[in-house]
Amino acid sequence: MTAQLIDGVAIAAKVRAQVAVDVEKRAAAGLSRPGLAAVLVGDNPASQTYVRNKRKACAEAGLESFGYELPKTATQSAVEDLVAQLNADPRVHGILVQLPLPDGLNEEKVLEKVSLEKDVDGFHPVNIGRLAMKGREPLFAPCTPAGCMVLLEEVGATFKGAHAVVLGRSNIVGLPAAMLLLQRDCTLTVCHSRTKDLPAVCREADILIAAVGRAEMVKRDWVKPGAFVIDVGINRIEDKSKKSGFRLVGDVAYDEVREVAGALTPVPGGVGPMTIAMLLRNTLRGAELADRKAG
Ligand code: NDP
Repeated sequence: MTAQLIDGVAIAAKVRAQVAVDVEKRAAAGLSRPGLAAVLVGDNPASQTYVRNKRKACAEAGLESFGYELPKTATQSAVEDLVAQLNADPRVHGILVQLPLPDGLNEEKVLEKVSLEKDVDGFHPVNIGRLAMKGREPLFAPCTPAGCMVLLEEVGATFKGAHAVVLGRSNIVGLPAAMLLLQRDCTLTVCHSRTKDLPAVCREADILIAAVGRAEMVKRDWVKPGAFVIDVGINRIEDKSKKSGFRLVGDVAYDEVREVAGALTPVPGGVGPMTIAMLLRNTLRGAELADRKAG
């Protein structure tokens, strides 16, 4: 059996195109263009690239974006004051604080200051709390895990009663992915660095989400034949044949696992493109929430 390739580039393009259509419908109806404010503190080159890509994606889908840069010496109150200013700005429907923040800044305190209705990253503790509670809906779900759900839906995965295993329990990926699967009535197992006999646990999975950050850790014999496998990991491994000297691989040993899985995401080109697509979708939702609030 060779796994169906889950084409994140194509699925993300579809999500982005739908957002663009909805944004134009809003504009035609005289409603505001959704606006995303991106806050970048310090000069981490990877963060600069992420913010640039997110703003470019906004422009392509017809959203407004506003960039705010603070030096790495910025104080906690300067960052929090900026967030407060953006909370009050009616042009802004989503606030993205690019993480990680420089050492010395309290990330949790900054994220708590983001207005719930503009929390397009879905990291506000109240949104995460609602995600974890039965029968409650967060206003926004975190983008990468939400993107994993769209990928699974697009390839026809059955959630109800399926055994889902999530490898990793980070606040950004593993934990919210687990909560989203539970919301969809999966039977859930969450694994982490203290889990015993990972291969045996993973082999039980009808749906396996790997978010550990360990290159090609999930092997062929960890995967149940026919399982849906979503590989969130992005790892650099040395590759002298590349000009850069490295290549990107996921947490799943792609070449061997595709022989046994039912469907599998590649890295790159799987989950990665979904994160920005879901951010655009969340920002559109932020604008819709603002309309409802206005009356
Ligand atoms: P973290 O380092 O925050 O979390 C890793 C998790 O994996 C932890 O829960 C940790 O367990 C667990 N873990 C680590 N090593 C092992 C092991 N040997 N066996 C079992 N569990 C282990 O990472 P993130 O969640 O932030 O990211 C995970 C991966 O996803 C990374 O490669 C990252 O680059 C990628 N990523 C990709 C995104 C995308 O858009 N595609 C977005 C975000 C992340 P414990 O809790 O016990 O320490």
